[in-house]
Amino acid sequence: MRILVVEDEYKVAEALRQGLEGEHYDVVLAETGEDAFYRATTERFDMILLDVMLPGRDGMEVLGTLRDRGVRTPVLLVTARDAIEDRVAGLDRGADDYLVKPFAFEELLARIRALLRRQGRTEDALKLSVSDLHMDLLTRKVDRAGQAVELTAREFELLEYLLRRQGRTVHRETLARDVWKVTERATPIDNVIDVHIARLRRKIDRSGAAKLIHTVRGVGFSLGLEAP
Ligand code: CA
Repeated sequence: MRILVVEDEYKVAEALRQGLEGEHYDVVLAETGEDAFYRATTERFDMILLDVMLPGRDGMEVLGTLRDRGVRTPVLLVTARDAIEDRVAGLDRGADDYLVKPFAFEELLARIRALLRRQGRTEDALKLSVSDLHMDLLTRKVDRAGQAVELTAREFELLEYLLRRQGRTVHRETLARDVWKVTERATPIDNVIDVHIARLRRKIDRSGAAKLIHTVRGVGFSLGLEAP
């Protein structure tokens, strides 16, 4: 679960980041309305925690522009004002819920969970598996045959990508583009992909276990109990 936290007060933002990361959310911070707008329109988030009081473009304005642009990412608006008009204005502009400052961290967590549930981003939808390999996207834990597998962030992303396309051949070009954000296929990126696949194999396909990662010669890779 990836959350964009928009907050200009450094200490508050850092406290939110640490607290949410402690709950296994992926957190990206934005300090200004401009930065928030840029990120929300160029990256994928499961939700946005948006402070209303920001220097320059404030939260309400950011929210309105995002909705006008068709960005439907759920927004939890954080307001320092408890005036009914502000809450109504926020909801009218397309906020999914709001929270009044100061709030208890536990309440924030409950609101986030409720919001994600309403969006159908339930915990069941956050589990991927093939054979005896399981990935939990919420806790970011992976296990094979009940044994925890420790992955780096990139290895996790690579495995998630393969799991979502299990049984199909994933081309090197697509991996380079979607996992490494590299559009030109070149030798360095091929080597990087090979190194990561090799590491993933060592962690996932330990000796004695059925091989799940297969090389499709000259094309790419596939994940599954059987080679495609
Ligand atoms: Ca603020």
